[in-house]
Amino acid sequence: MTGTSEADLRSTLETQRAAFIAARPEPIEVRKERIRKAIALLVDHGEDLARAMSADFGNRSHDASMMTDIVGTIGFGKYCLKHAEGWAKTDKRSLRFPLPLLGAKAEVRYEPKGVVGILSPWNFPVNLSFGPLMQVLAAGNRAMIKPSEFTERTSDLLAELVSGAFASDEIAVVTGGPEVAQTFSSLPFDHLVFTGSTDTGRKVMQAAAANLVPVTLELGGKSPVVLGESADLTRAGERVALGKMLNAGQICLAPDYLLVPEDKEEGAIAAVELGVHAMYPTLLENEDYASVVTDRHFDRLQAMVADAREKGAEVIEVNPAGEDFSNTNARKMPLTILRGVTDDMQAMREEIFGPVLPVKTYKSVDEAIGYINAHDRPLGLYYFGSDSGEREQVLSRTISGGVTVNDVVMHVSMEDLPFGGVGPSGIGSYHGPEGFREFSHARAIYTQPKIDVAKLAGLRPPYGSATKKAIAREMKKA
Ligand code: NAD
Repeated sequence: MTGTSEADLRSTLETQRAAFIAARPEPIEVRKERIRKAIALLVDHGEDLARAMSADFGNRSHDASMMTDIVGTIGFGKYCLKHAEGWAKTDKRSLRFPLPLLGAKAEVRYEPKGVVGILSPWNFPVNLSFGPLMQVLAAGNRAMIKPSEFTERTSDLLAELVSGAFASDEIAVVTGGPEVAQTFSSLPFDHLVFTGSTDTGRKVMQAAAANLVPVTLELGGKSPVVLGESADLTRAGERVALGKMLNAGQICLAPDYLLVPEDKEEGAIAAVELGVHAMYPTLLENEDYASVVTDRHFDRLQAMVADAREKGAEVIEVNPAGEDFSNTNARKMPLTILRGVTDDMQAMREEIFGPVLPVKTYKSVDEAIGYINAHDRPLGLYYFGSDSGEREQVLSRTISGGVTVNDVVMHVSMEDLPFGGVGPSGIGSYHGPEGFREFSHARAIYTQPKIDVAKLAGLRPPYGSATKKAIAREMKKA
């Protein structure tokens, strides 16, 4: 197990970097073998990890954990295995005439950066540490991982499993709270991937800036759902309910709030309620429904609802079996729909990250677009409807990290699509070929021919008529 003092962390980083440099160039097969080992670890211990996640949350569906954290990550690992070679191929680049004829060559090699730090959150503790890891390994790097302190059992188990399967100069897991995280983020990594809140992301970027460490920031935000005029309300309601109730809404991409045409508000709310009833006939003892992760997170959500009620919102609790939530310490919370919300309410100012769903109405789709554009660029944006004109209007006039049309969240599971935010919802992305490039250094290599190109182009002093001719040739409008 890796120690957590600053000296320990620096020493692990230095050991990994020395091993990385000594081993270069590593054949692609070595990278693939590491990915296979990471996959095998998840196959062999996925069930144990799912049990640890449930214990950390209070309750979290075993099946849901297996799907989102274990199988999802194994699938992504296999996708990386399949593409690693293709992604790592050297790119030939074009050169200006007549350089190719003279024997010049230009190419880009995608080379590993070195040691990549991975800081991950609690909501999908395995997926959000091992997911980036698969692509960090595909790009030929070594990794140090600091998983969240809120899912302590899972983080400890990950540390134990990784130290059993990998040499500590290949992959090391460091556990600990915010102080360790802070120290970790100030290490001179060759790249740092952070997944977490926008507020912490700011601190991480500041710490990384001191060493000019390049960062990938996978942050949060308020991902809106635009229900178009042509939306099939029943289907939209079901899908929003599924996306909002999975992990009890504790998903970075969860639909944060609904934007609905004024005349469809009643219907949209009824459809979401129907969706909840169909999937979760009960909540309190229902293994399928996750708890809110800690008392602090639970209290924050309760305060958010109280604040909305105080400021005039109608609060609709979707409690299919009419259960009593007041005398339980299970931290389970029914989906709570807020109607008549205003921008001064906490629920419209902060990322919700739990089972609370504000519904806001609009008169025209322009108004919905204007609302989205007046707020921070979200991580995800969802449009429901069959009107392609309206859909394109929404997509081409807003900016978001990614989009799912006629559903929510799903674009993140499409391995070949880049996943990331924009501005306050994130910087950079992984998944897809983009992720490989994110964790690689695109090294430009130009090979000069034997012939004296500088002289030929009039670039060498003393400057004279050849230089003037070369300048005159270029000074033309395009
Ligand atoms: P968080 O920001 O509180 O913590 C994330 C990680 O940062 C943890 O490992 C923690 O130890 C570490 N950390 C805490 N303080 C730190 C500091 N001062 N310096 C450096 N690191 C520090 O986030 P969270 O509560 O664990 O997760 C919820 C947030 O994560 C939500 O905002 C959610 O939207 C976001 N999220 C984003 C994605 C994505 O892929 N974009 C995925 C999941 C969660």
